[in-house]
Amino acid sequence: MLVYTLSGTLQSREAELHLLWEAGATGLEERGGVIRAYFDAPAELALGGEWVSEPDTDWLSAWKKDLRPVTAGRFTIAPSWLSGEVPPGQMPLLIDPGMAFGTGHHVTTRLAVEAISALDVAGLKVLDVGSGSGVLALAAALGGAAEVTGLDIDPVTLPAAYENAELNGLPYRAGAFVTPGGSLRFEEGTLDPEMDEAPAYTLLIANLYAELHDLLAPSYRAVLLPGSPVILTGILQDKLPLVREALAREGFGDVIETLEGEWALITARSS
Ligand code: SAM
Repeated sequence: MLVYTLSGTLQSREAELHLLWEAGATGLEERGGVIRAYFDAPAELALGGEWVSEPDTDWLSAWKKDLRPVTAGRFTIAPSWLSGEVPPGQMPLLIDPGMAFGTGHHVTTRLAVEAISALDVAGLKVLDVGSGSGVLALAAALGGAAEVTGLDIDPVTLPAAYENAELNGLPYRAGAFVTPGGSLRFEEGTLDPEMDEAPAYTLLIANLYAELHDLLAPSYRAVLLPGSPVILTGILQDKLPLVREALAREGFGDVIETLEGEWALITARSS
């Protein structure tokens, strides 16, 4: 087992944790002022940490013990083995930790699921850019959206997203999962601001980072039908002006910012 150890706490280094997940971490924990990130294979990381090889023990079960369900609006995000702990009245959103970011334990994922929960998504055509574990696409799909597409540049995320869709009881037929309101599919890919996109979606969700939102903002405008909401997160608060300006430049209005810790989520509406 490979462990990348890093001094600090999960809270003090929260802004960097996404780099560990994106590099392929399968789990993170904190022990006595040291963050331990578990990996199946070595990865390029320049965070000042150290790689340690440890005997394969029951680390997964030990780590699993600490994973608690997360409440996000009307959804409770939980690993499959805790499905029995979803409180009555809450919609279960089952996500098992794996090779892809998005168990609900990161503030930005939870904020995005809360924002999806606050919308009436019934009938919407949804694009989730950077779908990772599929958590946000699944929230929209389970919430009743008509067509949901999860797009991720990293092919490693696709099997995880498929597994999580299956965990949530969605049958797979003819290239897509059958959802309460329509269909859900996951694709490898990204948006390209250089490409002419036809407007096709009525909700766009993206948990990326501020610089990428800035770069992709013209595509967000292009793929959305007029008057459609966007939910953008993964934004460090000190980078908020970049995303604000990008949204203004592309004609988005009704901008609302939600702040938590170092993070921000923005909702807005296309013109
Ligand atoms: N949506 C999940 C969530 O909210 O927990 C995962 C978000 S994770 C922070 C960002 C994801 O975006 C990663 O899975 C990464 O592979 C993907 N990603 C990074 N750059 C991208 C791009 N340019 N286009 C599409 N996906 C991208």
